[in-house]
Amino acid sequence: MHELIGNMHMHTPYSDGESYHADIAAEALAAGLDFIIVTDHNIWVDGLEGYYEKDGKRLLLLVGEEVHNVRRQPQASHFLVYGAEQEMASYAPDPQALSDATNAAGAIGFLAHPHENDLPYFNDPNYGWHDWEIDGFTGLEIWNYMSSFKSRLADALNGMRWKSGINANITAVYHAFNPEKVITAPEPATLALWDVLLGMGKRITAVGNSDAHATPMSLGPIQRIIFPYEFLFRAVNTHILAPNPLTGDLVTDKRMIFHALGRGNSWVGYDMPASTRGFRFTGQGINKGIMGDDIRLDAGATLQISVPQRTHIRLIRHGQVVAEEPSGTNLTHIPIEPGAYRVECTIPYHGRERGWIYSNPIYLR
Ligand SMILES: [Zn+2]
Ligand SMILES: [Zn+2]
Repeated sequence: MHELIGNMHMHTPYSDGESYHADIAAEALAAGLDFIIVTDHNIWVDGLEGYYEKDGKRLLLLVGEEVHNVRRQPQASHFLVYGAEQEMASYAPDPQALSDATNAAGAIGFLAHPHENDLPYFNDPNYGWHDWEIDGFTGLEIWNYMSSFKSRLADALNGMRWKSGINANITAVYHAFNPEKVITAPEPATLALWDVLLGMGKRITAVGNSDAHATPMSLGPIQRIIFPYEFLFRAVNTHILAPNPLTGDLVTDKRMIFHALGRGNSWVGYDMPASTRGFRFTGQGINKGIMGDDIRLDAGATLQISVPQRTHIRLIRHGQVVAEEPSGTNLTHIPIEPGAYRVECTIPYHGRERGWIYSNPIYLR
């Protein structure tokens, strides 16, 4: 299998981002990514997909869309569509119709930043998912780095002892300059929801992204781009395992990436503390497989985890830790029950344990 590292949620001036596609691609190459998917709000920008190369390294830029109903207040329930090859914004008023149309187009759809906090000090409501009766979507964006930043800032502002505009600005500046110190893990509510859906027997695939805009921010006296694209491309990414490296043929490579993403042959990696490249989660029963695959459970079935660096490894089934290695690079487990088994790893960084790897499940049937 070939590992490809991607980031699949970002904006250009076609919606509310700062840089255009070619400039973002250059930053993604500098950060070591293999593919990016640009997802402007409610616009599918056609004709810009293609390859970029630098120093012998190739990057594929694809274009998806982040769709939401602009007449809804707040403008929440953002839905990421990959591979539809058509404008999807006309379906926005009905999230179920949007998800159904995504599936009908042969595409995949994810609930973006499903849980985030309101930021009343800065007049920013939460844009989490609000239309929970939805069904049939591919998966959840379990970790969105910019949304994590907003939620941690909201926590800090809610916990302020002396509430004032000045203190709020100081707190915001501290957070903006030190995101890696305040961001620790995906939202617990999103992970809990994922476990519940998996426990119901659903196939739910996780992705992790930057949501990069590179917007210049003014916080009191300080004005600068606080989250450049390249910085965010070194943070939360999605690593896929594909049968081949990029071939240079757009149709072939696109199909390969979307297949792995939709199936969940992938994990969410927080590559800032240390690169998660090289992580593997495999299973062997009557047949063999990797994360995202179905394996037929028999008495000799085993699950194997291999991590590129010593870390705290947890194997989780429907919200329960079924095996654990507090400090190691490998974990083997013999499962006795069917279900969805996923891996979480944490790693110390800036004085705290941080979420590092969140694998998609192996489905033991
Ligand atoms: Zn969004
Ligand atoms: Zn976005």
